[in-house]
Amino acid sequence: MMKISAARKIQNELVEKRETACNICGAVESRLTATVGGCNYVRCSVCGVERMFEYPTESDVMDFYSKDYMTKKFNDLGHHIHFTPEYRATYFSEKDLTFSDLRMDLKKYSGKNLLDVGCANGQFLEYASKYGIRPLGIDISKEMVGVARKNGLNCEVADLFDLEGAYDLVTFWDVVEHVMDPLAVLEKTRTLLNPGGEVVIQTPCTGMVSELFGEKWLYYLPVQHIHLFSQEALFALLSKTGYSITSWVRFGSCNPKGTIPDTNKRAIDTIVKKTGLGDTIVVRAGRTED
Ligand SMILES: [Zn+2]
Repeated sequence: MMKISAARKIQNELVEKRETACNICGAVESRLTATVGGCNYVRCSVCGVERMFEYPTESDVMDFYSKDYMTKKFNDLGHHIHFTPEYRATYFSEKDLTFSDLRMDLKKYSGKNLLDVGCANGQFLEYASKYGIRPLGIDISKEMVGVARKNGLNCEVADLFDLEGAYDLVTFWDVVEHVMDPLAVLEKTRTLLNPGGEVVIQTPCTGMVSELFGEKWLYYLPVQHIHLFSQEALFALLSKTGYSITSWVRFGSCNPKGTIPDTNKRAIDTIVKKTGLGDTIVVRAGRTED
């Protein structure tokens, strides 16, 4: 009897360890960083990535996205208005600025294949088309893909892991923070890239701003944001999965338009950008050749 219960205890401990371990590096050690709406975020002591603790279950995630998620997106925080038609011009000029900051000339991709993962209503597909790029967008939201297709954009409801094909550029705009297994996503993406292919990844970035704001940080959004990366942790993950960083930019200061006076916002945003401390990061990385 003694033996059986000891064995069971060890087995239970193992199950518990698996459930609470970091999906990226497997470590269990972590430190609490924020509690938001009854959900905890912890920072992994080994890889430095913050994650929801515990992770949401698959049904938590499905429930969340099925309940008018996109309608919520329209109404929620200021930065999510980027799905509205009125935001199109601003979106385009933001992208001009981002690619200029990354020293990336999209003309180089004219006639080449782009995959935009999590394309939503297809704004980036439209932007890329201006450069003669051949885009395909994928998204899990039927609703969003429907909107994009109605606008004549090439996209489909698909899961990255079911995809085949060869792409020269793969983009993730505010996507990797939403997935349960970012490492697997990057590994899969690498198999879809042609030699010389590149990825561009935009995601929230932990650091000075997230630490200053604590639980009020804009990007602690339980269920939506499962993993939150520091610059170092993101770079390490890219390197581990077969990419070399070409350039990056950080911008934003947890102050969406309208929350503080415009002059203050401009000043703060300028400072965080110049000092590389912004709370959004965009990284451009190339597939490392074997
Ligand atoms: Zn970890």
